[in-house]
Amino acid sequence: MQLEDDDGPPPGWQSIPPPPALPPPPSPPPPTTEIAQMVCGSCQRLLAYQKGAKHVKCGCCDSLNFVLEAHEVGLVNCGYCPVLLMYQYGSSAVRCSSCQNVTAIGEHNQRPPWSVIQGYPPASPSPNPVR
Ligand SMILES: [Zn+2]
Ligand SMILES: [Zn+2]
Repeated sequence: MQLEDDDGPPPGWQSIPPPPALPPPPSPPPPTTEIAQMVCGSCQRLLAYQKGAKHVKCGCCDSLNFVLEAHEVGLVNCGYCPVLLMYQYGSSAVRCSSCQNVTAIGEHNQRPPWSVIQGYPPASPSPNPVR
């Protein structure tokens, strides 16, 4: 009488399980590709761009839009045409991309920074912190 598994392991013997596959080495997290949006200064289309980009080329009118952080951007109505202009906050004048006229930015037409319009908290610390 022959046992079929005569050459197999004796009873009670357990084969060593193969070592668990090592987890792959931790790879650095992929750079966060945050998408931001801005309005093309020329054709007013909404453009999506990767955060950190310095400028965005409009796919519609091919104009190059410089990306400014929200707190760096002000809005002013062109004094000569109905275009709403974006300018670097702190500038004293902005040239309209539509009619090329220079609009002086003063108290009368200055808007709050975009960050305020969008509801971001002010950059300056609150004088009365909530406890
Ligand atoms: Zn455009
Ligand atoms: Zn204009």
